[in-house]
Amino acid sequence: MAVATVPEDEIKKQLEYIDKIKALGQNRKYFIVTLGCKLNEADSESMAGMLEKMGYAPADSFNDANIVIFNTCSIRENAEEKVFGKLGELKNIKAQNNMIICFAGCMSQEPHVIDKIKKSYQLVDIVFGTHNIYKLPELLYRKIVQNEEKRIIDVWDIDGEIYEGIPVKRESKTQASVIIMNGCNNFCSYCIVPYVRGRERSRAPEDIIHEIKELAKDGCKEILLLGQNVNSYNPREGYNFANLLSDIDKIEGINTIKFTSPHPKDFKDDVIDVISKSNKISRVIHLPLQSGSTKILKDMNRGYSKEEYLSLAKRIKEKIPDALFTTDIIVGFPGETEEDFEDTLDVVRQMDYEQVFMFIYSVRKGTRAEKMPNHIPEEIKSERFNRLKTLCDGMTEISMNKYVGTIQKVLVEGESKTNKEVLTGRTPSNKIVNFEGPKDLIGKEIEVKIVSQHVWFLKGEIV
Ligand code: SF4
Repeated sequence: MAVATVPEDEIKKQLEYIDKIKALGQNRKYFIVTLGCKLNEADSESMAGMLEKMGYAPADSFNDANIVIFNTCSIRENAEEKVFGKLGELKNIKAQNNMIICFAGCMSQEPHVIDKIKKSYQLVDIVFGTHNIYKLPELLYRKIVQNEEKRIIDVWDIDGEIYEGIPVKRESKTQASVIIMNGCNNFCSYCIVPYVRGRERSRAPEDIIHEIKELAKDGCKEILLLGQNVNSYNPREGYNFANLLSDIDKIEGINTIKFTSPHPKDFKDDVIDVISKSNKISRVIHLPLQSGSTKILKDMNRGYSKEEYLSLAKRIKEKIPDALFTTDIIVGFPGETEEDFEDTLDVVRQMDYEQVFMFIYSVRKGTRAEKMPNHIPEEIKSERFNRLKTLCDGMTEISMNKYVGTIQKVLVEGESKTNKEVLTGRTPSNKIVNFEGPKDLIGKEIEVKIVSQHVWFLKGEIV
């Protein structure tokens, strides 16, 4: 089925709204609160790109912002609560800053959230969803220039479209996230994503490659390819994710290619082959397991069994001996027994993961799992979560110790968030390394001797 693409003249119209707002010459500031995944971060970079073209400068905080955008996440309950908490904080400064408050992202696609905003959050001026981010200029124009009083709610319940040509403001010059596809057709029974991000749609490879070549010209060294399900990338007959990887592999100036998130059931041999032949594609492979129990995987609608997952990992290791795996695990899915949980621990022991992102199952309104029987009591979920965490922390300690005394190639990303005197970067295996050094090393790849490990990061000295 051909994927709908937003017509060029619609994008042109939005760029004209950008110019009209810029012409107002108001020195105003914006602040974007980004919650959730890398895709949301990339969407926020598009929102920032459009706002800066309108002449807005980034604010350091809410306090001096005239436009605030909440780019929300629906993946777990606590993400939702966090947003409404923050919204409440704006009550007092909204009038003082003549502030426009926008509510965006995945939560905007949930009808019960729209009802909650209508009922209890009068301070929200504009609501837009995941399908019409490119319309932000027009929505702001209606508020700023046409002084539309009424709240604007512009959320589309559609399969989704592809749009190109929107300005993007990237956080880093050396690393860039590039969306290759959006949406998901898998409908894992616990997941809200297919309901808020629509059906899978892949950008044209020519547009992706052009974007990455431009980034390489600007000095970008590392690319992260993004999609809810990157390995089901399929822009047209005869061209798939393996083709895209090998075409990007040829681009001069890019040293490292990473991608997230692949689905184990779509991880085909052609992708494994391309990775094995490349010295740019990262050896850190994210392979979301979710559960080690074949029964639970079936109830989750994951499309693979415990055995199939382990044999896929074995196939990857045979072709890529230096492959390192990271994963996502959900603890406490409805119906999970002690035996099922033991299966999860068994896979973790066998896989020797480099990193495990672990989550306690959180009911998502509107998903199939919400209506399943045998939801697990909170205390059992937490008890299992702690056992998994203890196992993984022990394994992380062992894997981090391996780095002490070694010399690592590190891409210097910037200043450490906790200490401006310290620089931070990542090893090819995605380990965070902190070390002292001059700021002009930022963006460069250097050699660092690892002197100690601190579970989540390594300490080093420049060689
Ligand atoms: S693959 Fe499953 S978990 Fe991932 S986004 Fe799609 S439905 Fe959600």
